[in-house]
Amino acid sequence: KAAGKNRSELFNPDIQERLLRRMQLENDLRKAMEYGGQFIVHYQPKWDTRLGRPIGFEALVRWNHPELGIVAPSEFIPIAEETGMIVGLSRFVLRQACRDCIGWERSGLGMYTVSVNTSVRLFDSQILFEMVKECLQESRLPSDRLELEITESIVIHDMNEVIRQLNQLREIGVKASMDDFGAGYSSLGSLDLIPIDTVKIDRLFISQSHIPARRAIIRTIITLAQQLNLEIVAEGVEEEEQVELLTEAGCFIIQGYYFGRPMSAPQIVAYLKELGCA
Ligand code: C2E
Ligand code: CA
Ligand code: CA
Ligand code: CA
Repeated sequence: KAAGKNRSELFNPDIQERLLRRMQLENDLRKAMEYGGQFIVHYQPKWDTRLGRPIGFEALVRWNHPELGIVAPSEFIPIAEETGMIVGLSRFVLRQACRDCIGWERSGLGMYTVSVNTSVRLFDSQILFEMVKECLQESRLPSDRLELEITESIVIHDMNEVIRQLNQLREIGVKASMDDFGAGYSSLGSLDLIPIDTVKIDRLFISQSHIPARRAIIRTIITLAQQLNLEIVAEGVEEEEQVELLTEAGCFIIQGYYFGRPMSAPQIVAYLKELGCA
């Protein structure tokens, strides 16, 4: 009976369509990795409300597919992760992020940190550590200007290996932040065990901050971070009221459309010049 049900699901046009798209994307992703030129790294400002200027940028990869146009990372990153292509893709993003960040400084636009998203796969067999060392050496970006964002899902992987590699990275000066905090399953239990410097409150809480109970959770996360001596960043901030709420609660580093969308490296240059950072 179960098999019969599965079979009928395969003929469900919706599922069939999704399978086809997934197969096409996987094939095209392979080609894109081989030929290059289709990926681009965008950067979103992290704004410090005390200083009234950006202090860093998060690198967010974009895939410009030759026929489909821009494919969202939420669609192709999971495919890259399942197929192992995430290793090559991450190396590309990391290398580009380090180059661009030092490039802004050399152009006299100021000193910034750059944050790069990681995946579980990079924590296998020293890959991440080696990759980071290589990109730092090549770009000559000082190591304390690089931050790696990890998600809570990494924790359910091999916690000891994650901790070991993050400690190695910390020894050379690279920072780590816990992304999407509060959205996952294992959050609280691992916060004091993993060597991180920063907590990023998940966008979901911010988008629901008109609900009093959600505001209470936001305030509690901020207090928790303060007590653990961690920096706190809010993401997905789109409205002035959200900025006010966060600032009053003690969160001063804010990322979101309110202060700036993800932009290409040349757009960042223009953005920094317009802010008077040149
Ligand atoms: P994330 O790490 O949580 O990144 C933040 C996402 O929120 C980005 O989506 C960003 O464009 C979006 N965002 C920023 N501000 C706002 C806002 O004010 N409102 C709303 N509604 N959204 C906002 P994006 O660029 O589509 O990336 C989605 C996810 O894909 C990322 O979530 C991250 O998990 C993954 N990703 C992106 N680039 C990379 C990468 O280079 N490597 C890896 N491993 N994952 C990546
Ligand atoms: Ca992130
Ligand atoms: Ca996030
Ligand atoms: Ca996310």
